[in-house]
Amino acid sequence: MSDIIHLLPDAIANQIAAGEVVQRPASVVKELLENSVDADSKKIQLILSEAGKNLIQVIDDGKGMSETDARMSFERHATSKITNSDDLFNIRTMGFRGEALASIAAVARVELKSKRPEAELGTSILIEASEIKSQGPDAVPQGTSIAVKNLFYNVPARRNFLKSNPVEMRHILDEFHRVALANPQIAFSLTQNDKEIYNAPAGKLSQRIVHLFGKNYQSQLITCQEETEWFKVSGYIGKPEHAKKTRGEQFFFVNNRFIKSGYLNHAVQGAFEGLLKDDCHPFYTLFIEMDPSKIDINVHPTKTEIKFEDERSVYGIIKSAVKQALGTHNVTPSLDFDM
Ligand code: ADP
Ligand code: MG
Repeated sequence: MSDIIHLLPDAIANQIAAGEVVQRPASVVKELLENSVDADSKKIQLILSEAGKNLIQVIDDGKGMSETDARMSFERHATSKITNSDDLFNIRTMGFRGEALASIAAVARVELKSKRPEAELGTSILIEASEIKSQGPDAVPQGTSIAVKNLFYNVPARRNFLKSNPVEMRHILDEFHRVALANPQIAFSLTQNDKEIYNAPAGKLSQRIVHLFGKNYQSQLITCQEETEWFKVSGYIGKPEHAKKTRGEQFFFVNNRFIKSGYLNHAVQGAFEGLLKDDCHPFYTLFIEMDPSKIDINVHPTKTEIKFEDERSVYGIIKSAVKQALGTHNVTPSLDFDM
């Protein structure tokens, strides 16, 4: 009897991996924006058509790629961000798995244009379902532009599974908000179906918050800051009276990476105890900085969940920082509402 096990061709392996990394247009938006951040861009443009179903394009003015790197960037496990396993415990970039572009190119038509600052000419690549259709020198601006067209055109089940444009757009905005909040020093713009939705210049975090969420946030932000030997938290919380029924505007970043943590959210919510009406949720944008070796960000492919070595201490510091911030603004239950 002959053997029956064989290695899958790259295109199929990539398509399987894509199932984990690319769930919907918003996943592509997240990966492309993060790559542009990692490339030290000063300005990042996001252009969408039909909530990303037809086009997701990210244009940056970052460090660009050489001709070979541009080709390599679509290989699975190809990355410039880590080289050995020690690096896994000291990650400062958003990406490191080298999976995103390979996955995206497995389930879409992708056009990449890129030029390094020192290069005279840049390069253009067209790739479809993991297959490079063309590559050649091209007179393109410094930085990188990646256009992802007809997402899931070759995976009909996924394509049909996409939700309505408003729903997909909401997911995209969530990702856009997270990256834009984490990087107020970078200018961001967002255009959907030729209409400009955001154009946020580089500035301070408070300005970015106001730009993204509205002018009324100007008067509701309370500075929150605390530092210990191994841990720093800083950012803003919203005044309790501005808390909303929805939970959407709550952001934790650890070493500039957005994370979801019910546990830490509980710490904040706990600090607000007695100050919130009914089931309201306060606004917060909090940045935690700590030694990357004390956290594990490798638990999930999309990297929104992380593990802390000492979760309880983190909880305690966050809670006390928020309490203190509320205290310095003289917000106490008796002063604020008649409870
Ligand atoms: P990762 O970000 O995990 O390294 P990706 O598949 O997202 O993996 O990208 C692969 C590589 O392509 C990156 O490591 C980087 O070297 C390069 N790259 C991707 N996007 C950009 C960009 N916008 N500017 C410069 N280089 C990029
Ligand atoms: Mg990446």
